[in-house]
Amino acid sequence: MIIMAVNPMQKAHDAPRCGAKTRRGTPCQSPMVHGRKRCRMHGGAYGSGAPKDNKNAWKHGLRSKEYREEKRRGREIIRQLRDLMKGVC
Ligand SMILES: [Zn+2]
Repeated sequence: MIIMAVNPMQKAHDAPRCGAKTRRGTPCQSPMVHGRKRCRMHGGAYGSGAPKDNKNAWKHGLRSKEYREEKRRGREIIRQLRDLMKGVC
């Protein structure tokens, strides 16, 4: 007779749980979908959610990847100029 020391389903039971608030007010506690913070019923389903760089909600682009990159380059140039000025003065 083989005695199982470890429950083979323990790994599934230990899966991280969804914390969405249910109608009862308690956390959902269904397992999270891989790579998501919620279960399949609370917005974690594949194909749900906004697309990457949500172009549907584009307003002015102030938080776009391109603009943030441009601001980062500008700050880098200012930093370099400031270092150059330190050598002059
Ligand atoms: Zn849930």
